[in-house]
Amino acid sequence: MTWRVGILGATGAVGQKMIQGLAAHPWFRIAELAASERSSGRTYADAVRWMQETAIPDGVGELEVKPASPVLECDFVLSALDSSVAGPIEQDFARAGYPVISNTRNHRMDEDVPLVIPEVNPDHLNLIPRQKERRGFANGYLVTNPNCSTVGLAMALKPLDDAFGVAEVFVVTMQALSGAGYPGVASLDAMENVIPFISGEEEKMQTEPRKILGRLAQNSVQFADFKISAQCNRVPVIDGHLESVSIKLKKRASEAEVSEALASFSGEPQKLGLPTAPAHPILVSSEADRPQPRRDRDAGRGMSVSVGRIRPCPLLDFKFTVLVHNTIRGAAGAAILNAELLADRGLLPQRSQVGAEVAARKHV
Ligand code: NAP
Repeated sequence: MTWRVGILGATGAVGQKMIQGLAAHPWFRIAELAASERSSGRTYADAVRWMQETAIPDGVGELEVKPASPVLECDFVLSALDSSVAGPIEQDFARAGYPVISNTRNHRMDEDVPLVIPEVNPDHLNLIPRQKERRGFANGYLVTNPNCSTVGLAMALKPLDDAFGVAEVFVVTMQALSGAGYPGVASLDAMENVIPFISGEEEKMQTEPRKILGRLAQNSVQFADFKISAQCNRVPVIDGHLESVSIKLKKRASEAEVSEALASFSGEPQKLGLPTAPAHPILVSSEADRPQPRRDRDAGRGMSVSVGRIRPCPLLDFKFTVLVHNTIRGAAGAAILNAELLADRGLLPQRSQVGAEVAARKHV
């Protein structure tokens, strides 16, 4: 069975990674590309400023870029729209019957919208029926993945929370330039510099992990009760967000137990063998100076989070370093993995089937 995918925001930094991630996908075929008025009506090759190290995949460059309106010929959409416009566009697609798997911030914290990392909280997909009922969606719905730096942090916290309980988290990020899209940060601001401010980022890191690690109870998520203090910096690295984390645990643990909990972490995507799932969602490094963005960001084809430098913290209990590939595990790959999980659960009907069901119901 194959599904036809539409990509909203296909010309952007994340949209391009979605195209790369779907180029040889066994289940999903790129059928429609959409972006702003600037791009629509042009071929993809003409409209895009392609920034990837591999060529535009065969058959994609010739596709016409369409406006982001819900008349696309596809079974579901992945959204990498600019957040200034994503909210209402995604809602319109869901209302028109499309499953919308979004990478943008706009609906992440809506009470009825799952914010999902497939290895961490696949059960939150059970919010979908309530969302459909509450918003009056017949077939469409919204599912989101977290902010790019949140993904790395939440994945590292999950096994520790399960094993020992997380009580407090302090995190300082060093975030890559590609996290700001293209053209992003001006070169005169970025080069030979560190910018100790990324608009809205600290707030996202302080709230999103608490929803993701929260418990689904009576059709809503009870947020995890630990506090997070985040400080976010933009650094002159192209891809890969590095995070220095200190944590306080609820139960005593040894350094070896913390390391073992992280290294042995595995989830539903690994059990199901989903195509984009890495064999190891977390890779623990024992080398004193790893992980590093340039050397480690592509681990597990960009889908593994690297953790290293696990050691005691004189203020809290332990400290360690996390690295996440921000445009793959932190964005495009995260959305594709969510789509695979939805497909595996039978939550991605093909739209021809949806049309046939509606027609059959009308006929009755
Ligand atoms: P980007 O490079 O600036 O791309 C934005 C995309 O949105 C482009 O395809 C653009 O099309 C399209 N767009 C802009 N205005 C539009 C409109 N009025 N109607 C339809 N399409 C419109 O941004 P990005 O870095 O790829 O990020 C995309 C989304 O993912 C954002 O919401 C961002 O916050 C989120 N995100 C990014 C990262 C990351 O690491 N970069 C990580 C996690 C989440 P045109 O080319 O035609 O203008």
